Amino acid sequence: MSPAEILARLNEQDVKFLRLQFTDILGTTKNVEVPHWQFEKALQGDVTFDGSAVEGFTRVEESDMLLRPDLSTFAIYPPFSPRTDSGGQEARGRVARLICDVTLPDGTAFEGDPRQVLIRQVERARALGFEMFVGTEPEFFLFERDEHGRGTTLTHDKAGYFDLAPIDKGERIRREIVEKLMQMGFEIEAAHHEVAPGQHEIDFRYAPALETADRIATFKFVVKRVALEHGLLASFLPKPIAGVSGSGMHCHLSLFRDGVNAFADPEGEYGLSAVALHFIAGLLEHAEGMTAITNPLVNSYKRLVPGFEAPVNVAWSTSNRSALVRVPAKRGTSTRAELRMPDPSCNPYLALAVMLAAGLDGVEQRLEPPPAIARNIFKMTVRDKRHHRVRELPTDLREAVGDLEKDAVIASALGEHVMEHFVRAKRAEWRAYSDTIHAWELDRYLDLV
Ligand code: GLN
Ligand code: MG
Ligand code: MG
Ligand code: MG
Repeated sequence: MSPAEILARLNEQDVKFLRLQFTDILGTTKNVEVPHWQFEKALQGDVTFDGSAVEGFTRVEESDMLLRPDLSTFAIYPPFSPRTDSGGQEARGRVARLICDVTLPDGTAFEGDPRQVLIRQVERARALGFEMFVGTEPEFFLFERDEHGRGTTLTHDKAGYFDLAPIDKGERIRREIVEKLMQMGFEIEAAHHEVAPGQHEIDFRYAPALETADRIATFKFVVKRVALEHGLLASFLPKPIAGVSGSGMHCHLSLFRDGVNAFADPEGEYGLSAVALHFIAGLLEHAEGMTAITNPLVNSYKRLVPGFEAPVNVAWSTSNRSALVRVPAKRGTSTRAELRMPDPSCNPYLALAVMLAAGLDGVEQRLEPPPAIARNIFKMTVRDKRHHRVRELPTDLREAVGDLEKDAVIASALGEHVMEHFVRAKRAEWRAYSDTIHAWELDRYLDLV
């Protein structure tokens, strides 16, 4: 769409406010809202903001930044009821949004913009003749709020995986989320109750990497917004409750060349092309190095434990869901590798960028994956694993950040600016966590010693 076409749509739909969105390094969506008389200026990419106020963005001396909208991301938000947090903005008229690239005042791309990090990898893939498509399976919990509106970890249902009747509150809300997403142009493939009580999953159609990253950001906003309207809290925290399944965000990755799936080869081993095998080898090679990005919270590592369908080991399989990379049975256009460690707390732009960087490194270096493992890895002995050269994913955020710093391919994909800010923020987060005296310690030790 051209700026003129968007202006016409905005008028025709009586949109009163336009949100210019971008994402900070830690993955929080930010926005600057402009009223209708500023629409033209906004569409020209002429809206400035103070970058120094945004987490991990910039030094004070270069703090004026511009938002250059990607016009292909134009969407009008479905009407949300005005009862809640957003200052009643919906009552003032419809709201539309554009996702933006962040630039310096001279118009050059800002290297600390996570969307730019992904765009750099997309361009690198394009130079090699490839386009990466990504489909995701974000999982989340719907929790009750207490009488002050604060979130709790109490769930209102007792249902389980794919449960049907009776239709509970969660299911009605999930359906409403699906409807709102569809109004925003999402093609929903499936929505179902997940394994844990109160846990849900909504899958939307695969798309080029940048489009999917934009959609993940929008998805989280819409899910949280609809839950809030119903007095619930939607949380993408990877492991809110000990002892039950956590929430992952499996990513299904494939490379296309000239519109054809470049992972499929009916003659190849497992029905996979050499490109697919190299790509999978790259994902495995850089698995530890990218985990801090795909699983960025202290809490993320409480999900990556055996027994809950979340991966623990660096291995691949054509069948077994205990592996880090699984190749689902479908071939042809649907041939793909499912990366199973990412969780929905990640910055989607950085996460897809490091996955692409890892896979492309495998393709460029023609790395060969180890043999696929058909057994349940959770049931293998330590000796078995050593024999099969099965490594372990980092077990906590501190280790993951260390592995990230050791991986030159992932570090260079992120670029110096993002690396520096991300590592600094995550080290501080780890320090805050380890300086805290947790309830578990008191329960366990206070009386004992
Ligand atoms: N919740 C599981 C995870 O943490 C995935 C379960 C599933 O979708 N099979 O990754
Ligand atoms: Mg699923
Ligand atoms: Mg699932
Ligand atoms: Mg899956």
